[in-house]
Amino acid sequence: MQIKNTFISSLLITALISLTACSVNPVTGKKEFSLISKEQELAIGAEGHKSVLKKYKRYNDSALQAYVNNIGQALAKKSHRNNIKYTFTVLDDPSVNAFALPGGFIYVTTGILGYLNSEGELAGVLGHEIGHVTARHGARQQSMGVAGAILGEIIASKTKTDRQSINQLSSAILSGYGREHELQADKLGAEYLARVGYSTKNMLDVIGVLKAQEQYGKYLARKSGRQAPSYHGVFASHPTNDRRLQNVIAEADHIKSAGTKPANHEGYLKRINGLKYRIDKKHTGRIVIGRATTPGLTYAQLARRSKVGEQRLRLINGMFPKGEPVPGRLVKIIQ
Ligand SMILES: [Zn+2]
Repeated sequence: MQIKNTFISSLLITALISLTACSVNPVTGKKEFSLISKEQELAIGAEGHKSVLKKYKRYNDSALQAYVNNIGQALAKKSHRNNIKYTFTVLDDPSVNAFALPGGFIYVTTGILGYLNSEGELAGVLGHEIGHVTARHGARQQSMGVAGAILGEIIASKTKTDRQSINQLSSAILSGYGREHELQADKLGAEYLARVGYSTKNMLDVIGVLKAQEQYGKYLARKSGRQAPSYHGVFASHPTNDRRLQNVIAEADHIKSAGTKPANHEGYLKRINGLKYRIDKKHTGRIVIGRATTPGLTYAQLARRSKVGEQRLRLINGMFPKGEPVPGRLVKIIQ
């Protein structure tokens, strides 16, 4: 495998010498191969933004849009690439998702917002997506896509390798880039969190939230035989067990302002009070915030006042698979 990779890399380099426009990566400061310029990147982003807004709906809540935008802009201002315009949009979509287009267009769904439990976690999601933009992952992926196609042609003409193994090799290279990109986006996200003042722990927490989502999906899949969903499908294990992930995130702990700003659980929950929440394919509810005032209150008890069951309540409150409401703290239920 190693030999083949070297073989492919050298072919790739040879093939691209005549096509390459070298540009400086904003994060590393190093020159790198990219087939598209900054102007093209911004144009691709703007075009993609139109398609996204056609495919999805903007969530109709200007206060929530402004809240997400403010947090996003604060992070973007402290990023490696604060000379481009960032656009943050909340999409009215029940899937648990966040993504970025090249050129600074960043999206979070109402689905993901319902599962987050603090402003710090929201900042973690936005920081990760800003990381994809600042490291020009989208732009590089596009280049790799073009490169991949060129690569396939060259291998086909110079060797007797069949089409299927060429495709397998190309996608192996590209998926390798995918995993590295995710880790780098987490690292950059943690750095931007720290520069704004949030604790880098928020980054681990948010990955934990998404991992719990996946585990809940598996828990449901065991009952119904469906395939579990996954977010950016990267982590095989829980983030607290992932040494490499923990190390890249911890690098930002040395930043002086790290941890000076609270995660703000209460403020975030108040902001998402009334948020649309998909119960299942046919039913939509709303997130309703209340305070766990009674000592010994359980999610089983809350489920009686809610349109979703006990485990689903744990999941949306960041307590899956076990845990009960913390007395005095705000809790979400679905009505
Ligand atoms: Zn990502």
